[in-house]
Formats: sequence, C-alpha cells, structure tokens
Amino acid sequence: MSKLKTFTKEIKKVLIANRGEIATRIIRACKELDIKTVAIYSEADAKSIYVKKADEAYLIPGDPIQAYLNYFRIVDLAKQTKCDAIHSGYGFLSENPEFAEYCWKQGIVFIGPHPDHIALFGDKMAAKKKMRELGVPVLPGSDEPISDIKKAKKIADEIGYPVILKAAFGGGGRGMRIVREESEFEDLFKSAFNEAKKFFGRGDVFIEKYVENPRHIEIQIMADKYGNVVHLGERDCSIQRRHQKVVEIARSPTLNEDVKRELYRTSVKAMFKVGYENVGTIEYLVDEKDNFYFIEMNTRLQVEHTVTEMVTGIDIVQQMIKIAQGEKLGFLQEDITMRGYAIEFRVNAEDPKRNFAPSVGAITSYHSPGGPGVRVDAAVYKDYVIPPYYDSMIAKLSVWALTWDQVVNRARRALDEFIVRGVPTNLPLLRAIVRDEDFIKGKFTTRYIEEKLPTFN
Ligand code: ADP
Repeated sequence: MSKLKTFTKEIKKVLIANRGEIATRIIRACKELDIKTVAIYSEADAKSIYVKKADEAYLIPGDPIQAYLNYFRIVDLAKQTKCDAIHSGYGFLSENPEFAEYCWKQGIVFIGPHPDHIALFGDKMAAKKKMRELGVPVLPGSDEPISDIKKAKKIADEIGYPVILKAAFGGGGRGMRIVREESEFEDLFKSAFNEAKKFFGRGDVFIEKYVENPRHIEIQIMADKYGNVVHLGERDCSIQRRHQKVVEIARSPTLNEDVKRELYRTSVKAMFKVGYENVGTIEYLVDEKDNFYFIEMNTRLQVEHTVTEMVTGIDIVQQMIKIAQGEKLGFLQEDITMRGYAIEFRVNAEDPKRNFAPSVGAITSYHSPGGPGVRVDAAVYKDYVIPPYYDSMIAKLSVWALTWDQVVNRARRALDEFIVRGVPTNLPLLRAIVRDEDFIKGKFTTRYIEEKLPTFN
C-alpha cells in the first residue's frame, strides 16, 4: 500500500465523470439517495439525456474525448461546484489510478477502491501474480510485457500451443490473437503488436495458454471499509463478439453448483486478503472440465451490473456511494438471496451488413420495451443524433423472470418490442440469439456468436 490516506465524508453532491447511459444510471442512484448531481459534457453530447437529468451540467469544450479524460479540469470543476465525490462509471477515467489518487489529494472522495488496488489489478500480469499467491488458479503465461519476438516465441513454445496474445497495456479485446501453431506465431505476434501499438501507444503483449471453448464467468464482489466482503453471485458473459461482451446473464443457468460455490469462496477470500473495498468483478474462464482460471479483475462498476441488481434486488451504484462515505454493508452474505434469472442485451448502433461497423447519425424512430420484468438503460431518444466519437452501445435491455424458460420468453417479447430506426443496430442478432435452440438450452461458450453467426442470416 502506498502512503496515500483516503478518508470518509458524507456525500451530498456527486460529479459524474462520464457520459451516456451510465451517467443517467448514476444520476438515478443519487436522486434516490437525495444526493445532488453535476454532469459534464462535451460539445458532441450537448443534447444527451443525462445532461438534462443532472441538477447542474457543465460543458467541457475542446476535444470530445478529452472532455471526459482531462482529470485536472474535472477535479477542479468538482471543487468549484462543491461536490464531495466523483463517480467515474466505466471506461474513461474509471480505472486510472492517478486520477483516483488525484481526487483524494484534492479532498474529493473517489467512489471506488483504493488507487493502489486500481493500479495492481490494472496491470494484468501483476494481478495474475498476486492472485496466484492468494491461491487462485491462473493460466500459465508470461509474467512481463514482451516486445521481443524471439523471447515471445520461446515462452509460447514453453507454454505449448494454442496460446493467446494480449495487449499488455490495453483491453477491450484489442491486440488479441489466438496462435494455434508455431508456424503462425511470427505473423500473429506482429499483428497483435501493431494493433496494440495503434490503440494503446505500446505494442507490448503478454502470452497465456489458450483455453478451448471456455465460458466467461465473473463474480461480483462488494466490500466495505471494515473488512466485510460479500459476493453477489456470478454472471455468465460468454456471449461475445470479438472478445467483447454482447449478452450477459445472472445467474448462470448451467454452471455446476459446486463450481459456483468454489468460485464464490475463492473470490471472497482473495478480496478479503488484499483488503479490497467498494465493488469489483473478478473474471474467470471455465474450461470444458469445469476447471476455472482467473483472467482479470475490473475495479469498477461493470456495464452488466444491471442483471446482478435484478436477481439480488441490491442497488450496486447506491452501495458504492454508501461504502465510499464510510457506511458498513447493511447485510451479511446469508442475507443476500438470488432470485430468478436476468439477461442483459447490449443494443449497439452497428451495421450487421458491414461487419458490425459502428453506425452514426439520427435516430428517426424510437420505442423502448416495457412491461413486467423489463429494464431499459438507454442513452438515446427519437431525433437524437449519435456522434461518431464514442462507444456504439446505445441502450441496455435487461429482463428478469423467475425461471430460465420465462426469462428467455420475456427477452424475446421485449426485443421484439424494441424499435430503433434511422441507424442500423445489432437488434436482429439479439433476436436471433434468443430464438436459437442452443441458447435456449443454456449451451454457449465464448465462441458462440462466431459459430452461430453464419446460420443466423
Ligand atoms: P480484455 O481486457 O481485453 O477484455 P480479457 O482478458 O478480459 O481481455 O479477455 C476477454 C475475452 O477474451 C475473454 O472473455 C475470453 O473470451 C477471451 N480470452 C481471454 N483470455 C483467454 C484465454 N487464455 N483463453 C481463451 N480465451 C481467452
């Protein structure tokens, strides 16, 4: 732990250092807690919904992406507007340890874990090392970033093919390559390196054993400042496109109960031992024989937190704020009950006919689904113009029901109700998924979309 001392104080006003649906989500949590909100927005976001929902909103002129990254400016604004705390959502500054530290040093509560934990888990190799020390299974791999191709190849030979290359200083599936045999290594290393360099400024990669047909299972953790750590169950996020999540499910309808229990126990124990606080998600791959391996930890609110909220009834964003202001968790592990199943669908403005390239422009018609068990976290409305600078996710549809069969039926009904016109979206893909026999049976691995896509059209 560094010397940085964090503190607690009553949170009466929060600056939201983010945009889009997650800014709205945080504003909603604050309103229910009677906390005032300050939004920031770029020129491109002047007509966004969250700007109108906040109590105060300030334009950050200039570059549309830097508006959400320039933390000196953002913390200054928080001070000027007399905010007690900052919530940074996901993406942008949410996993930047320097930003979190700067908030604390300027007297602003950073709603999240200690900056040291953000730094530790932000370095995937250091995180794996730490988790291995704590008794969590990890995959064999390199323990440092590699830029030298000969060195990389030697490590791959030692691990044994297939291996996966990942950007050492990045994420979001960028710079990832699966190398099935030695002869492909050089070409794939070069393309991973170049892609990582293009996106993250550094091309270094790390190498890991590739797991065939895994399921991506993650555990939601919540911890207060007094050593109380609980889990809120698992999410199955296996349904991905290009290593990016598309559909997320709480609870896993098929994972063996003993494996679930072991995942919960391992995750809670590890977080207790590191002294983690606030919320976090530990991501694992589960192989065909039900062995699980830690791959990474996210030290922030996740996009897919909605499904955990639906099955537990716990408002994760409100809990984050309460923990940050020094409250004890108001419940024990045995008080948390998981009821039913929830599925989240990421509705993306992307064109299935152009290999899912992001689509921009005006939404000419918009109708969001409703009715029992349906939740929509959206960033758009009729006549909203999607700007070209940001992530393509325009809405999250989350549905809940008591049984798996019911939730699938409800998902089908809600997806059919959803109308977005003017820009192409991935809604046709989502509708095809909920009609697929294997999905209905709960049979999916991280290769699901890749394998199914050709049969969907
Ligand atoms: P990112 O930070 O870029 O999202 P992750 O390490 O979380 O990267 O992995 C994202 C996805 O990539 C996983 O959910 C999984 O589908 C795939 N993946 C990552 N590591 C492996 C591995 N060792 N074997 C098989 N698939 C993997």
